Amino acid sequence: MSDITSVHVTLPTDSKGMLGRECPQCKKYFKVKPGTGLDISDCTCPYCEHKEASENFTTDDQIEYAKSIAVKQTLGPILKDFERSLKNLERSTNKSFISFKVETSSFNFPIKYYTEKDLETEVICDSCNLVFAVYGIFACCPDCSRLTSMSIFLKSLEASKKRLSVISKLQPNETELQEVILMDALVAGVSSFDSLGKRLAREFPSFIPEKPRNLFQNLDALQEHLSKTLSIKLSDLITEDEYKRLYYLFQVRHISSHNFGEIDSDFVKKVNCDPKLIGSKPTIVKEDLIEFLDVIEKLGIALRSKL
Ligand SMILES: [Zn+2]
Ligand SMILES: [Zn+2]
Repeated sequence: MSDITSVHVTLPTDSKGMLGRECPQCKKYFKVKPGTGLDISDCTCPYCEHKEASENFTTDDQIEYAKSIAVKQTLGPILKDFERSLKNLERSTNKSFISFKVETSSFNFPIKYYTEKDLETEVICDSCNLVFAVYGIFACCPDCSRLTSMSIFLKSLEASKKRLSVISKLQPNETELQEVILMDALVAGVSSFDSLGKRLAREFPSFIPEKPRNLFQNLDALQEHLSKTLSIKLSDLITEDEYKRLYYLFQVRHISSHNFGEIDSDFVKKVNCDPKLIGSKPTIVKEDLIEFLDVIEKLGIALRSKL
């Protein structure tokens, strides 16, 4: 009969005291600071809001590390005994005709150390004080699964702005990469605004409906809805000019997701541009995106204040 031994392994944290986590559902990575937040055994994924036992959020690196510690602690002493008996056997046989040589270097169990990855945004939950770190857009706090819609919105935009700043470090010939980063910031900006809409719909169901689901991705539909329920126009919350440029970039985002980024007749009609542009791709520059993210922020804050 062998004993079942349980080994307690404490996972190391990074230089800021943060512990890496991986969602079992969407597989995305985030970090939490043990000792902050709530004393609970569940964890909620900040990206997809999937909730289950904290232990199931262990990363592959952490599992490998824990396994290597467990093997060292449980098998180490057993093999030390075994090694001793083999050495005794070696001593008792070395004067006989049959000699027995023992090589024990294979009894070494290395610990599989790892380092946690760097993440761009550090957040302190304004409900439970958990300190956590995420990459890009996120939806909630891993501990209390709350967080005000505004703080998520502002943090998400901050992350997009940070990513945009990478462009200044690129070489002039890295134009393709530059386009990818610009489009990423555009998509992320629209997604942040859309996530804000979904949150506000939950908080203020009498003003913002749950359906259509992507109301905040479609400025025409949003405009129509707000003028009915709150008698406000989006262009009143920012300037007419800002709204026009925001509207243009929302349409650019739309064709990037639905028409490989090429201008179609619907785009021409909506932004009132030259039909000769059909089939070409609109040019956007970094400055457009910096302004875009600022205007989205301004619009989100102004809209929230009206609810
Ligand atoms: Zn997830
Ligand atoms: Zn929280």
